[in-house]
Amino acid sequence: MKAWKDNLGRVHNYLRISLTEKCNLRCSYCMPEHGIPLSPRSEMATAEEILEFAKIFVARGVNKIRLTGGEPLVRKDFLGILTGLSALPVELAITTNAILVDRYIEDFKQLGLQKINVSLDSLDHQKFKHITRRDLFEQTFKNILLLEKEGFEVKLNAVLIKGFNDNEIGDFIQLSEKLNITIRFIEFMPFDGNNWDHSKVVSEKEILKIVQENYGEKQILRIADAPNDTSRNYKISGFKGSFALISSVSNPFCGSCNRLRLTANGKLKNCLFSSGETDLLKPLREGKNLNSIIEENLKFKHKSRGGMDSLEKLSDEKLHSKNRSMIAIGG
Ligand code: SAM
Ligand code: SF4
Repeated sequence: MKAWKDNLGRVHNYLRISLTEKCNLRCSYCMPEHGIPLSPRSEMATAEEILEFAKIFVARGVNKIRLTGGEPLVRKDFLGILTGLSALPVELAITTNAILVDRYIEDFKQLGLQKINVSLDSLDHQKFKHITRRDLFEQTFKNILLLEKEGFEVKLNAVLIKGFNDNEIGDFIQLSEKLNITIRFIEFMPFDGNNWDHSKVVSEKEILKIVQENYGEKQILRIADAPNDTSRNYKISGFKGSFALISSVSNPFCGSCNRLRLTANGKLKNCLFSSGETDLLKPLREGKNLNSIIEENLKFKHKSRGGMDSLEKLSDEKLHSKNRSMIAIGG
């Protein structure tokens, strides 16, 4: 079996599939306030097409699939898609805002979906409402506790924005004292329409410094990173859970990238930051062989961050606004 390899020899065995461009939240760093133009229904991949795509990728060595979006759980045929994928020889994972999670707990268990990443940017009800533009903190938090109690592998994703939630780093880590979860602090990344500027980024170094001030250097244990991990992992001595830093802005991890992304309208993206997209849906519908199209796409994968390999390039709005909003890519 020939693996999906790019020109730098990086093997791509992890596929992230976005199921929808829609969401029941409106996080300001992800979605412009005025929303995004949605793709016409006829241009969205159907459940059957998603399964066909997945089989093509799995046949060439993809062994992990993450469902994302938009909010994957708002898709009406979510369960059918999950059921279809669960028959493939892959590890399944999901990234969700957790609002609808309680409806699916038993299905997740039955279908072997164990790895669940949940977005949560504030532990303060009012701040949550401000950043998500929806008043759903209680429901989200209740479902996070439910997932942990039911034994799922839960990671909380918190996007840090300077002056907004960086004062909550200690409170977030404190959650991992009693709960077996990983708190992942994500550097705020630029996408079209999200009002990013570098002064709002809380860097990996700054985060670690704050943790050291809160807990003392000796209490912070560096723990092993899994192969191809995008995060650097730590824990506080004696705590049940752990924390991690995802530094896509200040210290990217592109050298070991193994990811491919499929958008909800069937476009292949070989990098989160790349504005380049290759349509797979039309050729699939025309009965064409997708293998050579995917191989061709991979030949042009940039070494780092879709070609924005320096902070200057990443900060250049003309470059980063060519990329779609995160909600339409699938984070
Ligand atoms: N709706 C689901 C959720 O929120 O978890 C899945 C989709 S969301 C686009 C996936 C992840 O992307 C979330 O963890 C979110 O925090 C992250 N994300 C979105 N925009 C981002 C940005 N500008 N910088 C860093 N992370 C971002
Ligand atoms: Fe929705 Fe997730 Fe984007 Fe928030 S981060 S608007 S929950 S897709």
